Amino acid sequence: MTLAFIGIGANLGDPRQAVKDAIVCLAQQVGITIVAKSSFYRTAPIDATGGDYFNAVVKIETPFTASQILRICHHIEDQFGRERPFRNAPRTLDLDLLLFGAESINTEVLTVPHPRIAERAFVLVPLVELEPELEIPGLGRAAEFLPNVQSQRIEKFSSCKCSRMQEGGAKLA
Ligand code: ADP
Ligand code: MG
Repeated sequence: MTLAFIGIGANLGDPRQAVKDAIVCLAQQVGITIVAKSSFYRTAPIDATGGDYFNAVVKIETPFTASQILRICHHIEDQFGRERPFRNAPRTLDLDLLLFGAESINTEVLTVPHPRIAERAFVLVPLVELEPELEIPGLGRAAEFLPNVQSQRIEKFSSCKCSRMQEGGAKLA
């Protein structure tokens, strides 16, 4: 079993709903167990055109290989009508494999850790939210890169009509 992180983003169609639905789709896949989900974030497009993005990161557990996970991600993207008219085009859904255990992978179709993992607030902030002490293979502690992305606009976004309950049922602020 490997623990891995998948970055989810969308800025076309109904992007907030797409991010929610993508988490459900991932959870429904045989061989993918979602063990943690970050908050939802609204972020400014970086090196890209179009409206604001909605982003989240999920932590999964899987018996599959990284390339099998990438194949599943592409399959889900296709079902959301993902098109690639040009580089960094607005997208109905983007699923990126951010980390796969402690593996470093460099093939023609797959680079892990994701090459822009430490440069993008929309990836780094939810990752550090999920795992404050996270180590990125080959780079070091994820939290140390946060100051580099401070200028990128990112805000938490409520994904749900209900607030979380603490253990014992006390309502969180
Ligand atoms: P973007 O880089 O903007 O997310 P795409 O989603 O269109 O663009 O991905 C382009 C290609 O990047 C994919 O065909 C995939 O093979 C490759 N790729 C390499 N490493 C990764 C990774 N870690 N996660 C997702 N895609 C990856
Ligand atoms: Mg992608």
